[in-house]
Amino acid sequence: MLKRTHYAGQLREEMAGEQVILSGWVQTLRDLGSVLFFDLRDREGIAQVIIHEADNPELFSQAAKLGREYVLSVRGKVRLRENPNPSIPTGLVEVMAEELEIFSTSAVPPIHIQEDDKAKEELRLKYRYLDLRKKSMMDRLRLRSRLYQSLRNSLYEEGFTEVETPILYKPTPEGARDYLVPSRVNPGKFYALPQSPQTLKQLLMIGGCDRYFQIAKCFRDEDLRADRQPEFTQLDLEMSFVEQEDIFAINEKIIARLFKDIEGIDIQIPFDRLRYSEAMERYGTDKPDRRFGLEILSLEEVFKSSDIGFLRTAVEAGESVKGIFLSGSDLYSRNQLKSLEKKAKTFGAAGLATLIFASEVSGSLARIVNEEEKETLFQICGAEEGILFIISGKKKTVLTALGNLRTTIAKEKELFDPKEHDFIWIVDFPAFTYSEEEERFVSEHHPFTMPKKEHLSLLDSDPSSVMADCYDLVIDGYETASGSIRIHDSALQSKVFSILGLSEEEIRERFGFFIEALRYGTPPHGGIAFGIDRLTMILSGTENIRDVVAFPKTLAATDLMSESPTAAGSGQLEELHLQIIRKEEVE
Ligand code: ASP
Repeated sequence: MLKRTHYAGQLREEMAGEQVILSGWVQTLRDLGSVLFFDLRDREGIAQVIIHEADNPELFSQAAKLGREYVLSVRGKVRLRENPNPSIPTGLVEVMAEELEIFSTSAVPPIHIQEDDKAKEELRLKYRYLDLRKKSMMDRLRLRSRLYQSLRNSLYEEGFTEVETPILYKPTPEGARDYLVPSRVNPGKFYALPQSPQTLKQLLMIGGCDRYFQIAKCFRDEDLRADRQPEFTQLDLEMSFVEQEDIFAINEKIIARLFKDIEGIDIQIPFDRLRYSEAMERYGTDKPDRRFGLEILSLEEVFKSSDIGFLRTAVEAGESVKGIFLSGSDLYSRNQLKSLEKKAKTFGAAGLATLIFASEVSGSLARIVNEEEKETLFQICGAEEGILFIISGKKKTVLTALGNLRTTIAKEKELFDPKEHDFIWIVDFPAFTYSEEEERFVSEHHPFTMPKKEHLSLLDSDPSSVMADCYDLVIDGYETASGSIRIHDSALQSKVFSILGLSEEEIRERFGFFIEALRYGTPPHGGIAFGIDRLTMILSGTENIRDVVAFPKTLAATDLMSESPTAAGSGQLEELHLQIIRKEEVE
């Protein structure tokens, strides 16, 4: 077998004259009659191979049978090209072939294995193994692998122990549905795949592990959103005898090293911290991207006795009137503003009012705003020209809509450099929020989160005003990590479960083993989990999560390549003591 001496993508000018053996796939072929060229691709790039009929007729006729995606090794001499192609790294050289060893032929590939391939994503997912041959695709997987390496290096140096926890387990609540696995040997019983290794890593702290980490697969059966996958990977870690600040410090160090290792940049630590309530007020979201301004302006004072009826009545009713100001001239045409309003409505806003400051004031409020209001708004906006967008209504709705509008405008108007990064800890979250749908309190983070010491006395009387020791790390507007200090007292843990509406029996059944474990000497502990897929997306500059997962699932949680999920094979259901009952049959 002709064994590779170099990767195709590594050939350079200074190698001219060297004998090399390359191995890879035929990307393109050009037959010029008595000269044949082909591009050989491997994971590092492509190299041009040339064969003259006159030099070696036998080799030439062997090469004439090649087709796209054939797999081969070629031995030959590197030489400078007569017609260099400076647009690719190997473009100054080519290989004069002396020997070919063909390993595989290929059927005509259903997608073009080229960066400018226009194939639909479904087709690319069906033929994922072909799509992965594209350099950009493989580069992202390799980046992900370097990310693992950097994280592991940091964590080992910091004295963490890498521990694997089970996949066949018990429900670990993180706010999604469980994937259940029926047990063949325990009829009628099910394992749940972990939504996260939360209870397990806490049990490791009780077990004396002190510092644990795991690159953990997590499973959450929820209605999929574009940036989610039903199974995803977390860097999960937990530490004993720590407070919030200790966790921040170590994670800042790990993240700084990661960005140094992958992007070669120095990022500034410590990261800023922002209270959850302030993030909501200023950016309309708990995951703000601060690479651009457009902070939310409170305009209730301006309109509290305005003649503009809908704004005044909103203020009178205790609702909000808020806006964001985009400075500049000729920003949006009338039609574009209309479509922006449509988007604002999809974000929950009732409408989108505008005031455009230019040599003349225009926009939907221009005719009805009075001089004094105009002057005050002009002062608040602090710029000669620009558009003030205003939304009124219930506070949460207004903030959320403006938060979304803010990022939409920033993207449309390219208000930030996507290569820059913004890191921020969001702190001081409420422990519980009331779910109208479920008619009970639900955890803002998860049930194992420690309420703030000074709020413990409010647990019985006013759960909604209890704040928790939990935090998110937001990078470039993505919630990249989330964690908390944990409850390490079994009575307090039981109390929190009961605030969440669990009966004593449910607590015993679902978490009895855990509550019991907390009784045998539990160190104070806390931790965090990073979404590895998100982190890789940020580091590789893609907004598509499927780009950073080797074999991803669609939004319908299916794998188009293997066509899973599938029906159970014959006899399998019986073996698992299961029966499929269709909804119609029940009805
Ligand atoms: N288990 C949590 C999650 O998956 C992370 C943590 O609290 O460490 O979000």
